[in-house]
Amino acid sequence: MANEMIPLSEGDRFAFCCSPEVPCFNECCKDLNQFLTPYDVLCLKNHLGLRSDVFLDRYTRQHIGPETGLPVVVLTQESATDLKCPFVTPKGCSVYEARPASCRTYPLARLASRSPDTGRIQEQYVLLKEAHCRGFEAENRPTAREWVQDQGLERYNEMNDLLMEIIGLKRRRHPEPLDMKERRLFRIACYDLDAFRRQVFEKGELQEMNPPPEWVKAAREDDAALLRLSLEWVKRALFGEFQQ
Ligand code: SF4
Ligand code: SF4
Repeated sequence: MANEMIPLSEGDRFAFCCSPEVPCFNECCKDLNQFLTPYDVLCLKNHLGLRSDVFLDRYTRQHIGPETGLPVVVLTQESATDLKCPFVTPKGCSVYEARPASCRTYPLARLASRSPDTGRIQEQYVLLKEAHCRGFEAENRPTAREWVQDQGLERYNEMNDLLMEIIGLKRRRHPEPLDMKERRLFRIACYDLDAFRRQVFEKGELQEMNPPPEWVKAAREDDAALLRLSLEWVKRALFGEFQQ
């Protein structure tokens, strides 16, 4: 069977189940090229009880996009020849509750864009039917909508769409690659959230942004709200936009 990509509407059903019973269990976690979004990093480092800089040092590598200059964070592989995920175990994923969005989404892929007319996110799902994956032999037949709900993807998609907005803004407002200082600021705000928290609450570095007090209050109490604030800060400080 050759690999296939099949567009799905929300109500379309597909056969799929991944469990320890499938003969290929864990195989896809052993051939890893896994990039992490800011929300993935936040969920993983909180799940592991680590500071964000410790998590980044221990479990990730950074690439720089050659044309954009944007830092891209990827999970480390075991070694140059062993490409397995640092979190895979014989029993499966050891960080299952905090697994990244792309692990949750598979075997679907999500294509999202913001409508220029309404500002609303438009999304489309595609089934990635890969020949090596035996999960497609299952009797379980969820719809795409059910899959998104069952995998807890809605909150991931909502947060990841904020990053998509930033990348679009960068393309329009700052087409040249980020310089070293901009890269460092982007990395802190997007991925090293504990460092961003110190800058905001101990050094008062958000004063110029003058965020609404309710945003700051929410960011003190909730990490997802802090990440929303940091992504807004990226839009303003690096790409000249601030939305209230
Ligand atoms: S995070 Fe979990 S599900 Fe994702 S590749 Fe690693 S072991 Fe597999
Ligand atoms: S290849 Fe498919 S069925 Fe096998 S472990 Fe990966 S997702 Fe599950």
